[in-house]
Amino acid sequence: KARDPHQPEFMQAVKEVMNSLWPFIEQNPKYAEQGLLERLVEPERAIQFRISWVDDQGKVRTNRGFRIQHSSAIGPFKGGMRFHSSVNLSILKFLAFEQTFKNALTTLPMGGGKGGSDFDPKGKSDAEVMRFCQALIIELYRHLGPDTDVPAGDIGVGAREVGFMAGMMKKLSNSSASVFTGKGLSFGGSLIRPEATGYGTVYFAEEMLKQARQSLEGYTVSVSGSGNVAQYAIQKCMQLGAKVITVSDSHGVVIDKAGFSPEKLEALIHIKNEQRGRVEDYAKQFNLVYEAGKRPWHVPVDVALPCATQNELELEDAKALIKNGVRCVAEGANMPTSLDAVETFLHAGILYAPGKASNAGGVAVSGLEMSQNAQRLHWTREQVDNKLHAIMRDIHENCVLHGGMPGGKVNYVNGANIAGFVKVADAMLQQGVY
Ligand code: NDP
Repeated sequence: KARDPHQPEFMQAVKEVMNSLWPFIEQNPKYAEQGLLERLVEPERAIQFRISWVDDQGKVRTNRGFRIQHSSAIGPFKGGMRFHSSVNLSILKFLAFEQTFKNALTTLPMGGGKGGSDFDPKGKSDAEVMRFCQALIIELYRHLGPDTDVPAGDIGVGAREVGFMAGMMKKLSNSSASVFTGKGLSFGGSLIRPEATGYGTVYFAEEMLKQARQSLEGYTVSVSGSGNVAQYAIQKCMQLGAKVITVSDSHGVVIDKAGFSPEKLEALIHIKNEQRGRVEDYAKQFNLVYEAGKRPWHVPVDVALPCATQNELELEDAKALIKNGVRCVAEGANMPTSLDAVETFLHAGILYAPGKASNAGGVAVSGLEMSQNAQRLHWTREQVDNKLHAIMRDIHENCVLHGGMPGGKVNYVNGANIAGFVKVADAMLQQGVY
């Protein structure tokens, strides 16, 4: 804490991992040697830079840009870029730290990183977003490369922003090598990448329920958020026979007891992605209940999928979900559940999956996009979806292996942390101290 004052999110993420790793490290003391833990909580490199750009009124704007290159122990730094006014060093360090273990869990050769800016794309014109993305890459390009650091999207960074950044990257490096994933299909993107995080989260929830001799079919589900992850989590839930009854954004929640239909989802995607509108507009279109300033967690459901942002499900929310009979909570977002809420779920015996396991499908398909680019091949939807499904099953099995408890229950927090840690730690030990 003394070394990283004012970094509460980073502290929270490190504490969560170290708490669950500690008993394992005591049993396997080689992992406390060579300063391994001290090295693992320190990013290999953290870059902060100025981004100056000109808005549509001709006014010069200045934002702050970051790239945290956390660990390259098992492959090039890999992780998304986030554009949101809340972005700071603490949030990106927590995300890069988590990303390192998540990427290890996918079994693909990717290290961990994360980056972004306090730039808020909301209310900006396409031309402003383009000039901002280009200004960002004018600085960041020197730190990126297909075997060095490969960014992607995250909150506020979708296909539009990735396209602008990848375009400037190509221009400055005079190379068409793949240094972004989540690209458009016409310039090296992978089918199923937009769907991957949401689909993967639901595949993982289905595996957890299967392990507990249940299934999503016929269950009610609450989803928070209405962005990329939320949209495709809703779609996959519907395909597997579950009923999704909530969706939200940073202003409020929509409650729809009848549940989503493909037509409603299409309308939501249009409002969010094309019109860049609010879920309130969606509620109005279908005459649904809208509660301003509320979260979805007071609504009774069997399964909760937090898919918006960090610390959006706190202690009181967890208590409400448990009281209303929730059976399974799988995180689509990164660290959406506060530490005390996680403890409460575990204590109550709820099936709970941390994001580093359940939302790893996005980066897994990013890894598959890199493989396709390197081979100059393009796989079909079905091929990519099958690989994604297989990876999510593998991650689940690995969690069961490392987090299985007497009586057949699984602690997915311990399982994910230990499985991810062992892979990164072994690689670090074998490569020596540097
Ligand atoms: P988007 O920008 O597409 O959507 C974010 C959603 O979360 C929006 O509905 C947004 O609402 C809502 N949101 C953002 N901040 C808050 C807040 N403070 N309170 C309530 N709601 C909020 O991002 P993604 O869907 O890509 O990302 C969502 C989460 O999933 C993030 O935690 C991200 O790190 C994680 N993730 C994403 C992956 C990906 O592949 N995209 C991969 C793995 C994890 P509003 O429109 O009002 O801002």
